[in-house]
Amino acid sequence: MGWLDWWLIPPCPLCQRPAKNVFCPDCQRRLQADRVSSWPLETTPWPLYAWGIHRGGLRQAIYKLKYEGQRRIGSLLGEWLGSCWREHSQQRQPYTVIPIPLHRERLQQRGYNQAALISQAFCEQTGLRHLPQGLVRVRATAAQHELNPLQRQQNLSGAFALKSIPSTPVLLVDDIYTTGSTIRAAEQVLATAGIRLVGVVVAARTQPAATQAQTLTPLWPTPPPPRPLQT
Ligand SMILES: [Zn+2]
Repeated sequence: MGWLDWWLIPPCPLCQRPAKNVFCPDCQRRLQADRVSSWPLETTPWPLYAWGIHRGGLRQAIYKLKYEGQRRIGSLLGEWLGSCWREHSQQRQPYTVIPIPLHRERLQQRGYNQAALISQAFCEQTGLRHLPQGLVRVRATAAQHELNPLQRQQNLSGAFALKSIPSTPVLLVDDIYTTGSTIRAAEQVLATAGIRLVGVVVAARTQPAATQAQTLTPLWPTPPPPRPLQT
């Protein structure tokens, strides 16, 4: 790699070396080591489609996506998820894809919703309908006594409201899946409107308790550490 590459090719967000396809080959290998082999990874309470485990390079990549403005990481993760989906789904389902929204203030602060970057690229890959504004995150400030029973339920479920009604069952997209409480709150809102949640698509699943560890066997053994930087 010539010195000119350091000027012309954008740096790999994980190691700063020039990288033609977002990540350099070494970091790409590190990320693949955290990929999971099951699709879906879990089936209850809903099918969970995760690309990898939230650790190592993938954890670092998602951090850079969320807090260091590295939007292209979101698009790439969405692309990877989309090709997994295409590879494994037997028939084309007319699902609507909705990203988990950020609250308006957070969105203004960050400038973008990382889940929407993932879902956008996911839909470009799969051809599924994208409804990026389907759900909104609202502040639960309304007094319960002012609400009708339906609104109370929505207010209690906390964070979300449905902004436009999808015409088909929904796949929710998020960057990280931990306990599923965010998804549960969003699902309640969908269910109230009679919309079925058919699955959850995430870039990474946090590492579960040791008892479940064997379900998260990576596809490949851990690779050797990246080569030291050539100077
Ligand atoms: Zn790299």
